[in-house]
Amino acid sequence: MSMIDDVIAKVKEKDKDQPEFIQAVEEVLTTLKPTEEKHPEFVKAKIYERIVEPDRVVMFRVVWHDDKGEIHVNRGYRVQFNGAIGPYKGGLRFHPSVYLGIIKFLGFEQIFKNALTTLPMGGAKGGSDFDPKGKSDAEVMRFCHAFMQELYRHIGPDTDVPAGDIGVGGREIGFLYGMYKKIVNEHTGVLTGKGLEYGGSLIRPEATGYGLVYYASEMLASKGQDFSGKTVLVSGAGNVAQYTVEKINQLGGKVITLSDSNGTIVDMDGVKGEKWEFLMWLKNEKRGRIKEYAEKFNVPYYEGKSVWDVVRDEGLKADVALPCATQNEIHKDHAEALVKAGVIAVAEGANMPSTLEAIRVFQENGIMFGPAKAANAGGVAVSGLEMTQNSIRLQWTREEVDNKLREIMKKIYQQSIEAAEAYGRPGDLLAGANIAGFLKVAKAMLAYGVL
Ligand code: NDP
Repeated sequence: MSMIDDVIAKVKEKDKDQPEFIQAVEEVLTTLKPTEEKHPEFVKAKIYERIVEPDRVVMFRVVWHDDKGEIHVNRGYRVQFNGAIGPYKGGLRFHPSVYLGIIKFLGFEQIFKNALTTLPMGGAKGGSDFDPKGKSDAEVMRFCHAFMQELYRHIGPDTDVPAGDIGVGGREIGFLYGMYKKIVNEHTGVLTGKGLEYGGSLIRPEATGYGLVYYASEMLASKGQDFSGKTVLVSGAGNVAQYTVEKINQLGGKVITLSDSNGTIVDMDGVKGEKWEFLMWLKNEKRGRIKEYAEKFNVPYYEGKSVWDVVRDEGLKADVALPCATQNEIHKDHAEALVKAGVIAVAEGANMPSTLEAIRVFQENGIMFGPAKAANAGGVAVSGLEMTQNSIRLQWTREEVDNKLREIMKKIYQQSIEAAEAYGRPGDLLAGANIAGFLKVAKAMLAYGVL
């Protein structure tokens, strides 16, 4: 048995109550097998075994009261997974499904994603099982303030710099940053995704969606194609989905689907113009449901179905699929439906939206597959640029940040292609991304000795 198989077996045994973490470890380590032979020094130093253990895990109680004065208790997390190449960096997720296994899977993936951006950032993730849905602004504020009253002691601009994720957008970052600043009495780049008035970067809200489309454009370009005239399936309706749709529209493509956790809409004319404006208002201001889009524009709505269920059941046709909602949304039968739909490329905006079986279907059927840790790295990349701007106390223009983002997405794609080629997996963007990210972190870990 190779050392990698042995490490996977041990994780399955030790962390058996964390299926998402096991899935992420299996996905990454399996593709790292070609590095085992070429780097006996990693095997000897047990780098593979070390990299699946977080540097540290912080779990804490968050107590807050609602508008009626009732007290609630939630659980908070910060997993500082690997700080070999820079300060810990990774988002905070507020969603009822959050538990240690979700945060560990996200933190583990973040190590390689951050390494790929070419910026010096370690991997981390955090969050809480708090559900912001249906809560008033005042309740969200009280929760965020209570969350930061503990988190502040574990983070810092050179230690750990959290950002947003599901359920944590500009409003929440404002509340979190306000409490940090009050306690520590320092105005410092300790969170990213901040408002423009207090240290944020232009293009940060757009970064993950724009970056995803830049990355997918590189994939299409390798086959001499682009987004112009392409029909695109997007899932989700949150931050990543919104700016993915905007960029595809700018490039002449047409997005025909959107979803939230209640259902899916199909708009064959495309989510563009006033419809996109409505989406932005609906999700960011009114905080309503995607069903209201269907009601307003008189398009079909499928209650309780994901975009991928609808593709499977209604036989939709499309060229590109960009999942932007959540983990494990695309199962094997969905992947088979995407093959039938005529999709030529899948790039992941969400983290781990495709199961291992779904990825296999893409690969066996010659569908180009852009994995999350490469395709959605634009968000953390611009977060890294926000840290730089905070350090030099300057704000770059929209154009400067957008150009840098485009450049980084290009480099991520190229590094992945080159690593895949060098390690005997030509054209495999998943293996390439994992190997390129891993090599950088592994070499840094080796340099530190036995730690
Ligand atoms: P948002 O909270 O803004 O939006 C999430 C969207 O996905 C909403 O439409 C939400 O619907 C839907 N969704 C969430 N959970 C589920 C679920 N369990 N089942 C079905 N639908 C669900 O989050 P983001 O757009 O920021 O994040 C989306 C994905 O992108 C996540 O996987 C995140 O980790 C990833 N990502 C985000 C980055 C960022 O910069 N924001 C960076 C890199 C990756 P509803 O409103 O009903 O909950």
